[in-house]
Amino acid sequence: MKLRQKLDHLSVKWKLFGWLSLFSALLLLLLWLFQIVFLDSFYKGIKTQALKSSGELVVKNIDSENLEELINQIALQNNVSIRITDVQGNELLRETVEPRDRFVGLSQWEMADIYQRALENGGVLFEQFSKESFHLSQEDYLFSGRFPSRTEFIMESMIYVRTVERSDGVPVMVMLHSVISPVNSTVETLRVQFIYIALIMLCLSMALAFFISRKISKPIVEINDTAKVLAKGDYNVHFTGKGYLEISELNNTLNYAAVELSKVEALRQELIANISHDLRTPLTMITGYAEVMRDLPGENTPENVQIIIDEAKRLSALVTDILDLSQLQAGVRKLNLSVYNLTQDIRDIIARYAKLMEQKGYHITFISGENVYVRADQVKISQVIYNLINNAINYTGEDKRVTVCQSVSENRVKIEIIDTGEGIPAEQLPYIWDRYYKVDKVHRRSAVGTGLGLSIVRAVLDMHHAVYSVVSTVGQGSIFSFELERVEVQEIIE
Ligand code: ADP
Repeated sequence: MKLRQKLDHLSVKWKLFGWLSLFSALLLLLLWLFQIVFLDSFYKGIKTQALKSSGELVVKNIDSENLEELINQIALQNNVSIRITDVQGNELLRETVEPRDRFVGLSQWEMADIYQRALENGGVLFEQFSKESFHLSQEDYLFSGRFPSRTEFIMESMIYVRTVERSDGVPVMVMLHSVISPVNSTVETLRVQFIYIALIMLCLSMALAFFISRKISKPIVEINDTAKVLAKGDYNVHFTGKGYLEISELNNTLNYAAVELSKVEALRQELIANISHDLRTPLTMITGYAEVMRDLPGENTPENVQIIIDEAKRLSALVTDILDLSQLQAGVRKLNLSVYNLTQDIRDIIARYAKLMEQKGYHITFISGENVYVRADQVKISQVIYNLINNAINYTGEDKRVTVCQSVSENRVKIEIIDTGEGIPAEQLPYIWDRYYKVDKVHRRSAVGTGLGLSIVRAVLDMHHAVYSVVSTVGQGSIFSFELERVEVQEIIE
């Protein structure tokens, strides 16, 4: 575990170096095994194979007219000497490529002896002669009293003998002999080379590790530095690290995160500014009127008291809205679903505006048709309708007309709240549902609305999974609408 932790804390550079060194070591091991340890066996194996297959080829073509040409070719190609003799050891054909080979000079009697040995062995004889075994072969073959020269001593060789009967009935012997060049000196050369290769590989993997790690870690370090600035609250940072795909993706993500963070921060500041402004206005009014009434007895009128009461109500409405919204958005509030008469509910709500309509000349028309029942949270849906009608009244045009329209389709009911006001510019439409969003921030009518109404509408309708939308034409007015699933309740007795 401790080692793991330590490894985790290694930089990219050292990790890469470790892996590359391991890779080089593996390569070197393979190289060493093949080039040095097994070179001798490989070489001998290949040589033996070539010798035997050449022998078989000669045997196969023993009756061929071009035998001489063929053995000449085989001898040159595979670097083997070939001798063909009869049973008595008399030479019929010969092709020599290595004059130092001890078998080149074997006498007729020695050849006859080999013939016998091959016959005893079933017609095939394969023998390898190392320097040590030479003395044995010397005893076996060199009856002629001929002693090997110095060169012969250092030559290792092998012979392959086949006895075969020609088509004319004459038995003959094919003997192939090949000198095995000593690999010791080659191995020695390779060993020295190997040390150089190992050293070069080590340096290369070091250089590569440094180069690659620089490429990889540089952008990471840059991003880390920028991220530290971001962490301190500077949202204007821009991540620029580049070099490979993952880094540019990380860059984009972090840039996106920075932008989103700055938005949240801006929203938070705006929220505080709005809340404090909205709370302060009625509070100033209340304190102002209360002080006037305390200091000037003549001002202690019911109208002034009413202003204080109105402002206090506005204050409490604002606080309720803020609480409602935060609870709705936090998901604390659960829906209290019941089946009720939506059409009647809307009628009741509109009836409460009667006084307003009378005094200020507003006309609220409700085009209803049949009674429609829905399964919904009555209190919350009423809040939605209130908020939408309030907005329509606040923003409607000079004619002071607001129309509420109920339309039904097969299993849905659609409520539209239509005004004839200035409308909302298309580019603002997506934002009006946001908290504290007001289309005209500069000239906002601070007495009107809290800027929370539509956010509450959205939160409630979202909870009901209802469809809602707004269509607005600048200069003509807006239509806010929402749809709920209707419930067929014939059995409900009104
Ligand atoms: P407010 O309390 O300011 O009305 P809302 O969340 O209810 O806050 O509405 C957000 C903004 O959307 C309003 O400030 C207003 O600019 C715009 N808006 C809402 N309803 C209407 C409407 N019927 N006509 C024109 N603009 C509207």
